[in-house]
Amino acid sequence: MSDCLFCKIIAGEIPSTKVYEDESVYAFLDIEPQAPFHAIIVPKVHIASAAEITAENSGYIAKIYEAVAKIAKAENLEKGFRVVNNCGEQGGQTVGHIHFHLLARRNLAWPPG
Ligand code: 5GP
Ligand code: ZN
Repeated sequence: MSDCLFCKIIAGEIPSTKVYEDESVYAFLDIEPQAPFHAIIVPKVHIASAAEITAENSGYIAKIYEAVAKIAKAENLEKGFRVVNNCGEQGGQTVGHIHFHLLARRNLAWPPG
């Protein structure tokens, strides 16, 4: 999608600090971190939100979670972490390309509010 912020980041048209990349997934540091470690993990194909997951594209979500485990190992997040997917207006989604926040290195409150 030509006017999608995260598609532009994946394409390198907007700079980002990469933390992980493979053929299906790109991960980069959030520009406004909500924890000492805060990465955004996205599929390299444009999927608008979790509400658009289908049998055809759900393999990308498995790849996202494979990336989570690899990043957690590489970043030594053995104390734990949280993966968050905001979906839609009431879910707090502000960028219309599905993404997963990986938050770590502080105690994270529950419920999240
Ligand atoms: P959402 O609110 O949609 O769940 O998350 C969007 C996230 O993208 C926010 O945490 C926001 O800080 C991050 N973000 C927005 N624009 C940029 C950008 O240009 N670069 C980076 N690295 N992160 C961004
Ligand atoms: Zn996109």
